[in-house]
Amino acid sequence: MFRFRDYETYLEQFEPNIWVLCPRCDRPVLSRCLDEKLTWRIACPHCSYTQTASRVGKHRKPMPWWKGTWWQQYRKYNGAVDPLFGLPLWLQVPCCGEVLWAYNEAHLDFLEMYISATIRERQGGKGNHHGIAVRLPRWMKLAQHRTSLLKGIQKLRNKVNTGSLS
Ligand SMILES: [Zn+2]
Repeated sequence: MFRFRDYETYLEQFEPNIWVLCPRCDRPVLSRCLDEKLTWRIACPHCSYTQTASRVGKHRKPMPWWKGTWWQQYRKYNGAVDPLFGLPLWLQVPCCGEVLWAYNEAHLDFLEMYISATIRERQGGKGNHHGIAVRLPRWMKLAQHRTSLLKGIQKLRNKVNTGSLS
């Protein structure tokens, strides 16, 4: 038996390290979890900006401190924000009219594995699709998007590997 899990829930496993853009200098900085998924901290290596965010209760969204609300940021960036600070994610790229985003390298690995496995399955091979069964957003599961998705993932991976600031 395998279990389908909601993608939002599954994302929690990638939350301890999230690449975001520094609100002061707009360069990539890691948002790191300090304790049992309650407190996160960013310390920008480029401009020395630091900030801490705490989560009160498992599903409460914290309030960002600089403007608006977390949900305003979420809508502004098409969902590509981190769940603690509401900062735009570094690893995001336009894809299929949507925004493809990831928290970190492990998240990219997961998406690539999932999407590749789905393709193998469609081609009649015995992929390990069921082992990582997860309900991704619908647009990420459409067959006609798969090639673009894999290209998008590769673009984000290059970004991490080269440390590109674009
Ligand atoms: Zn900075």
